[in-house]
Amino acid sequence: MASPSSGSGNSCKTAVSGNDGVESARRSRILSSKLYFDVHTSKVPVIYSSSYDIAFLGIEKLHPFDSSKWGRICGFLIGEGLLDKKRIVEPLEAKREDLLVVHSESYLDSLKSSLNVATIVEVPPVALIPNCLVDKHVLYPLRKQVGGTILAAKLAKERGWAINVGGGFHHCSAEKGGGFCAYADISLCIHFAFAHLSMTRVMIIDLDAHQGNGHEKDFSDDRRVYILDMYNPDIYPFDYEARRYINQKVEVVSGTATNEYLSRLGGALKVAADAFDPELIIYNAGTDILDGDPLGRLKISPDGIATRDEKVFMFARESNIPLVMLTSGGYMKSSARVIANSIKNLSKKSLINLESARNIPIM
Ligand SMILES: [Zn+2]
Repeated sequence: MASPSSGSGNSCKTAVSGNDGVESARRSRILSSKLYFDVHTSKVPVIYSSSYDIAFLGIEKLHPFDSSKWGRICGFLIGEGLLDKKRIVEPLEAKREDLLVVHSESYLDSLKSSLNVATIVEVPPVALIPNCLVDKHVLYPLRKQVGGTILAAKLAKERGWAINVGGGFHHCSAEKGGGFCAYADISLCIHFAFAHLSMTRVMIIDLDAHQGNGHEKDFSDDRRVYILDMYNPDIYPFDYEARRYINQKVEVVSGTATNEYLSRLGGALKVAADAFDPELIIYNAGTDILDGDPLGRLKISPDGIATRDEKVFMFARESNIPLVMLTSGGYMKSSARVIANSIKNLSKKSLINLESARNIPIM
């Protein structure tokens, strides 16, 4: 029964640094973006597109990532009659102007090198493929997922919650990709919420097995963002600088099992509730904490993952805070089934409603 391992790192955060030119360009890009569109009430706030899934010359088989996980999650939910395919929200692709809200021109230009993309997605043969094909078959699916994460905040504000069945690229920061993360969707989502939803306080609850060094670097000096990160310190990315920017760091070492994990999460959520009063929660719900995952090295059971997700949704519900869930990491074939079962559990516990608009004609 351990308590959160280390307290707040608030001392690292200072007031928002004023760079009026950058902020003004950012705001103007956000306000002219098409990514926030109105979603008809006949739809449920579950976001997915078949173009999320990456399948390209068999290359997806070279990465330990199940690159059709996103489609399989929806397939399970639809197959079991929990979700009507026609009520899923299809997002738009995040275009270059949208990505420039966080990323620099030089970072985006660096993705025009197949070698750089190969390094980021950790599939070496991608380096040998013409960049136009890499863009179409690898980067485009990721940009659709980024569009989904950004839209999720708007939907969560309107409906109380939203699940992007994808996204959660928490290793990517404004200037650097890595660990399969080419775009900083969490940072982008938060900047859109600041500018478009007039929010000023956002909490990130990052429960992927890996440390979320991307958003940590992007919001290092920004007091508007509170970061609770529960991760295994024995695995990638070993980003000690970014760890300084975590407000509440909960380190769970290799081999941590379900009961201890859930107990520490419960304690961490209590600390977070006392420390910060968010207007939006971004929940990075990676399933690489699952027992048997070779990369996450934790021992959380499938039921433990459903309970984890339930605890986070309860936490948001109790304080009436809009919640965005992202599926993030989870590298085994079984992950899709585990996520679908967890979404089913959330529905059963009335924390989400996948049928709310069943009688409304689909638009
Ligand atoms: Zn991970």
